[in-house]
Amino acid sequence: MPPPPSAAPAIVLLSGGLDSTTCLAVAAREGFAVHALSFRYGQRHAHEIDAARRIAEAWGVARHVVVDIDLRVFGRSALTADIPVPKDRPLDDPAVHGVAAEIPVTYVPARNTIFLSYALALAEGTGAADVFIGVNAVDYSGYPDCRPEYVQAFERMANLATRAGVEAAARGEAALRVRTPLLELTKGEIIRLGLSLGVDYALTTSCYDPVATADGDAACGHCDACLLRLRGFAEAGMVDPIPYAPHAPRASLASSASGASEERGATGGEDR
Ligand code: ZN
Repeated sequence: MPPPPSAAPAIVLLSGGLDSTTCLAVAAREGFAVHALSFRYGQRHAHEIDAARRIAEAWGVARHVVVDIDLRVFGRSALTADIPVPKDRPLDDPAVHGVAAEIPVTYVPARNTIFLSYALALAEGTGAADVFIGVNAVDYSGYPDCRPEYVQAFERMANLATRAGVEAAARGEAALRVRTPLLELTKGEIIRLGLSLGVDYALTTSCYDPVATADGDAACGHCDACLLRLRGFAEAGMVDPIPYAPHAPRASLASSASGASEERGATGGEDR
């Protein structure tokens, strides 16, 4: 249902993934007029943008802005270069995921700072005070730009860096808020929240390395994003509605994932 014409605008970073779509639903249900922002940034697979368009349309957003940038110039990442995407990494091994782990090869240099900077500019230009981003510090895989202290620092910078921020400060207010409603949730909790808000997860995509099939792209079922997504659905007691490639470990994960919510903090992977 579209928001009333008087609704305050909010910028929502929308990747087409599970987290950002849930974030969009939170913003929409809070009554904001959603201005969704997506990036064609040189990712290997354009399926993310297709998913973002479908989701924006389904939610009747006020505007969907798709920006072309090329993050490939900043260095190699398995998401933007022809580098193998890691497969079947154990989700519960803190040496692989978690705060002590190495930053994975799927990290894209400074991606959230670049995305949030665009969102900040769009917020100021739109007169929006709220920017929503679906970062998550529970299912944390060592991306430094998903941590709460990073978000707080960006918000402080945003209020220092903009005309809106300076003018609001003169009134003793903050002009811009970086909203992270998923920050402290497990993947299963995010899915349950989204379902309660009416999210259709069949429209979303998470896989870092989708497989072409006769019926279109299917999720690989083995990359960090797939493993975490599958476990999230199992934790929520739901079946993931998106197609998986043949031999994806869907059934085994679903049956072995009970109790996954007790493992929060030591898990990893990102869905953005
Ligand atoms: Zn995958």
